[in-house]
Amino acid sequence: MPRIANSKIMTSEELRLHKQKLRRKKYENKKAKIALMPPEDQQKIREHQNEVERKYWRRKYDTGPRQPAKTPEERSAYKVQWAREKRQRVRIELFNRYGGKCVCCGISDYRWFTLHHKNHDGGVERNHTRLNAANRLYHLIKQPKRDDLELLCYNCHLAEDFFGGCPHKDPTSAYFISREAT
Ligand SMILES: [Zn+2]
Ligand SMILES: [Zn+2]
Repeated sequence: MPRIANSKIMTSEELRLHKQKLRRKKYENKKAKIALMPPEDQQKIREHQNEVERKYWRRKYDTGPRQPAKTPEERSAYKVQWAREKRQRVRIELFNRYGGKCVCCGISDYRWFTLHHKNHDGGVERNHTRLNAANRLYHLIKQPKRDDLELLCYNCHLAEDFFGGCPHKDPTSAYFISREAT
């Protein structure tokens, strides 16, 4: 005979909790039963459970054969290497976007790549955005090409900012580059 007196209508939240409780009870009963078994049987059951779980996750994410574990040193070295390569890719991309050569001397190697603020307001921008050197690059790569920036090599940029003009533009200098000729 159904026990109508004890039954009541549960809300969905109550039902969820009730089912959870039942599941937990079932699990605990199973655990207690296993704990009473001889150790070799326990070991077998544990291996079986591990295998089932492994199969489940493999099927879910298909991670392929397991990679050998990295030591903390290897992991940090990998991270450094990864960040360096990413920075380099971004630098090359920006270098090509801003013309691919120094506008002053024409050097076209990305390793000398810097961006010069034509209005000398780089400090203002740095204070405003509060980004470090690498993050400034990542910030720039998301924007279209800006007109207030120009590509200069390290040499020309330094001379431009420290001395207000590059020797390449100074006719008295031995390194003067004539604009008309180029
Ligand atoms: Zn240059
Ligand atoms: Zn120059």
